Amino acid sequence: MHVARFWANIGQARFLAELALERSEGLGMTVKTARYLRPEQVVARAAFVAERKLARLRPGILERHIVRKMPAILATTRDAEPLWRWPPGPLDPASRTRPGLVDDILNGQFTFLNSSRQVENWWPEGASRLWLFHLHGFSWAIDLAVAARRGRADAAAALQRGVDDWLKHHPVSDSDAWHPYVVSERLMAWLTVRDLLPELNSAVREPILEHAAFLDHHLEHDVAGNHLLKNLVALLLAGCAYDGPYPTAWRTRAARHLETELQRQVLRDGGHYERSPMYHLLVLADLLAALWASGRRELPVSVTLADAVRRMQSVARGLVHPDGEIPLFNDSVLGEAPSPAKLIGPSTTSAPDILPSTGYAKLPVAEGVLIADCGPPGPDDLPAHVHADALSFELSLGEERVFVDGGVFDYVASALRTRLRGTAAHNTVQIDGRDQSEVWSAFRVGQRARVRLVHAAPGTLVAEHDGYARVGVRHERRIDAFADRGWRILDTLVGTGEHIADARLRLHPALQFRVGVGEWLVCDDEDRVLLAVRPIGGPDPELESGVYAERFGQLQDVEVLRLRRTGPLPLVFGCWLLLPGAEPTPG
Ligand SMILES: [Zn+2]
Repeated sequence: MHVARFWANIGQARFLAELALERSEGLGMTVKTARYLRPEQVVARAAFVAERKLARLRPGILERHIVRKMPAILATTRDAEPLWRWPPGPLDPASRTRPGLVDDILNGQFTFLNSSRQVENWWPEGASRLWLFHLHGFSWAIDLAVAARRGRADAAAALQRGVDDWLKHHPVSDSDAWHPYVVSERLMAWLTVRDLLPELNSAVREPILEHAAFLDHHLEHDVAGNHLLKNLVALLLAGCAYDGPYPTAWRTRAARHLETELQRQVLRDGGHYERSPMYHLLVLADLLAALWASGRRELPVSVTLADAVRRMQSVARGLVHPDGEIPLFNDSVLGEAPSPAKLIGPSTTSAPDILPSTGYAKLPVAEGVLIADCGPPGPDDLPAHVHADALSFELSLGEERVFVDGGVFDYVASALRTRLRGTAAHNTVQIDGRDQSEVWSAFRVGQRARVRLVHAAPGTLVAEHDGYARVGVRHERRIDAFADRGWRILDTLVGTGEHIADARLRLHPALQFRVGVGEWLVCDDEDRVLLAVRPIGGPDPELESGVYAERFGQLQDVEVLRLRRTGPLPLVFGCWLLLPGAEPTPG
């Protein structure tokens, strides 16, 4: 126990120092951020940092450690049945490839995060860390393998060359090429390649086993969340793809941790606990793969996986706009995760409109839907994808998105990232120009808003948060949906002192605001009116310019309508969002 405490203290000190170095926000913000961590995370972080330090002091030590193990692994491991078949089933990884990119890849041009680069070596200059994660993660190898299966001999040859060249240049090390997340991606991709193209088995077999042996000792317990789930799924798949004492140990260990993590990470209503619709889909895709593999092996974890997948599919079916895609809450963008339709399969059960644990609620009317974020910003121990967006919402009319989240431009710490994570980039109330939750650096959050769902029923949502308790304000928002009329948003601010309260409506770039008589009109590019915003409680409306990134690397200018009330509390104000020709309900 004393040893564990010692390591926890060392780990905490190191982690605090690392955090403090990361940004100049100072120790105060660092301590606020770190106090939310679980002790297991701190210990795992200390081990990770210690290993990286050791690897730098004694180059080659990680490689020698793995190399020493390989003879025993190779001598005792046999190939099991393939995990994946051809042609792929509708929910298999190989059914989600991007055939349009194959010719580019064969010409050395890779596109990730909407950014294309000619790749002459494995570390192209100017590429972001996330872009390099994709390149080294080899998911593009599945695109090539599918093309090869469809008869493109050049794709099979390029794939073989790519794998050989990567292996030649990347012995096990502490570089990002061997980041556990990247290793997991590559391991899953190469397992798929192995099954689709058996002629490549001899090239990838030993590397796959080496990857699994590495991953077995590098599970990201410090990060947890979707990273750890990906590590565990990759290790489970490797364990199911082979027989022998090592694969048995891999799948047993992965299954044991999966049982725990699924308990923690898949909430009662089926939402993933990071509360990011995009990561919900990415996790679901991984769990689907784990379910097939473990089901075939009749592992007990397959029962837990089937339950998690079924519940997550229900959320994936429901938490979408009428255009079939996700809302952009909490670091979500379009085009990075598989589309919900590719992950849910056929179902006749209706998806719930209210997700009380995850904290999302849909308020539909005949013409459209409002999707509100009424849950915690994210899990305490993993706020990486948290935005300061409590009680924000997105709204669609038909397939047209009308009010939008600011989205995500990239994951690099910058003024733009902080701005897009901040409260002013969301359709909620900002007090005195501050953020509800203290987002900082690229993935950090200090003080967080606690959100309470007060009442949720079809057509009505009431929720409150205490993110502004530090300035003496509590925010309650009530949203009502009225068939044939639209929606009413009502904000109540109670507490002490005088404050500036700004409620914002961020418009999709395809639309614009026009000023009307006592209202603001939302118009399309042919000046057709889609919606009227009629203020309640005398706020002062003003048009602001804002930004919107619905895809990585693509920033657009948008119009934002700001409704401001200033003065002593309590303040009550809001607006009607009226369908064309509709009037508010009396009273
Ligand atoms: Zn956001």
